[in-house]
Amino acid sequence: MTFGFETLAIHAGQEPDERTGAVIPPIFQTSTFAQDAVGSPRLGYEYSRSANPTRDSLQECLAALEGGSRGLTFASGLAAEDTLIRTVCRPGDHVVIPDDAYGGTYRLFAKVAQVWGVSWTAAKLSDVEAVRAAVTPETKMIWVETPTNPLLGIADIAALAGVARDAGALLVVDNTFASPYLQQPLALGADVVVHSTTKYVGGHSDVVGGALVVNDSDLASRLTFHQNAMGAINGPFDAWLTLRGLKTLAVRMERHCDNAERIAEFLVGHPKVTQVLYPGLPNHPGHEVAVKQMRRFGGMISFRLGDTDRAIAVCNNTKLFTLAESLGGIESLIEHPGQMTHASVAGSALEVPGDLVRLSVGIETADDLLADLDQALRG
Ligand SMILES: *Cc1c(COP(=O)(O)O)cnc(C)c1O
Repeated sequence: MTFGFETLAIHAGQEPDERTGAVIPPIFQTSTFAQDAVGSPRLGYEYSRSANPTRDSLQECLAALEGGSRGLTFASGLAAEDTLIRTVCRPGDHVVIPDDAYGGTYRLFAKVAQVWGVSWTAAKLSDVEAVRAAVTPETKMIWVETPTNPLLGIADIAALAGVARDAGALLVVDNTFASPYLQQPLALGADVVVHSTTKYVGGHSDVVGGALVVNDSDLASRLTFHQNAMGAINGPFDAWLTLRGLKTLAVRMERHCDNAERIAEFLVGHPKVTQVLYPGLPNHPGHEVAVKQMRRFGGMISFRLGDTDRAIAVCNNTKLFTLAESLGGIESLIEHPGQMTHASVAGSALEVPGDLVRLSVGIETADDLLADLDQALRG
């Protein structure tokens, strides 16, 4: 039987507890497992770094939602990325990264992987030929974010999968902004999906985590080896919280999209706003590609005010939108990327404009969010 997305989000990897009937499987908050005899662990569980039933449930559920054969979860999105990089790349290898990559991803390549001999080139991912031109014989991965953070650029996953195939490189897609509900990169030809489950997957701003999802069984076993060998796993309680968030992903994303569409429309019509970056807008340069590969356009909006001080003032003036980093939770957040999330790329090719404001639109009453932005823009 094949199930729909919402059914998988609630049931994949999770059965009522066999012993007690508990509908929600218990949190296996244990480091180790009793063995019946030397060399015969029950159900293969020995030690929770290697495998834990709560983490397994989350990994199975995420794999089902992304249409992959194996999911692996980690202590954070960056822990997942680091495990992937060190599984795939050796000194002398090269990767292509987005020219507006998530700041932490950029820092991981520029300040950590580079020291170990992995070089990188930043390319404009919306330009397929620019990505092809950035590839070298040493390129092992093409790293894609779509939509990008914070400029909401769109990359054509299927086209870039072709570039990666020609280069003999893996196509990695950071699917954090879209979530598996809005976009499924493996079906479009990607080899690896990356998530910061801290964001939409967990969805409630109460847990940090990361994930990788793949289809290839050889890559899956190499990643599984490194997950255990490097040990950047998430704990059972964090896995359980993430799994709980995941159950409502579809309904949350629909409301995030409803609210974001209304706010984008409001901002487009606002005299103080000079530009609105939202892939759902027909004049967005990536709109057509977004229509092709996304179900809807997500809850992230960035906009420009033509002036850095004005952008900072708006961030300081909202009352319902909380001034905070991160994104993807049920509550609305506002931030100034230039001085907050993207401060680490200041002075680099990835520097973001100072007049930019980023919204993570939550699932509160849309009219309340509009009224708050209205007063903040007026103030
Ligand atoms: C937050 C984020 C990450 C990093 O994830 P952490 O869980 O914070 O380590 C990676 N990519 C994107 C797009 C993100 O938004």
